[in-house]
Amino acid sequence: MGFYSFKCKKCSKSLLHPNKAINQWMAETSMVYVDSSVFEGRYDCYGTVHGDEESREVRWHPETYASVAASLYHTACYHLSGEPKYSGPSESADDQGHFFAPDSYDIPEPTDAESLATVVAFQAGDKP
Ligand SMILES: [Zn+2]
Repeated sequence: MGFYSFKCKKCSKSLLHPNKAINQWMAETSMVYVDSSVFEGRYDCYGTVHGDEESREVRWHPETYASVAASLYHTACYHLSGEPKYSGPSESADDQGHFFAPDSYDIPEPTDAESLATVVAFQAGDKP
């Protein structure tokens, strides 16, 4: 299997292989496990989240390609939405976090509830 990725449980956008400065934040990932533990790092679109001191594989279902045992969020979305507990698997991302039009994810990093709402509502092709 090549690239694969998942949709953020908050904004439904992919965990991304960043191609521009504006969407670097969309690689920063928070994995929230069933037991409420959290692991944060940078998703590589090959199935691994790389933290400062360790890396962790994202487990996924062999048929649905959804995540197993963890909900995945962009780290900014996770913190700005109140650090929710595990809320079920994250769906597979159709674009694999990698195959998207150049302006698909021109979304500035959210810094408050208002800009988070903008991220949630953003559709590919919108201008920031
Ligand atoms: Zn998100």
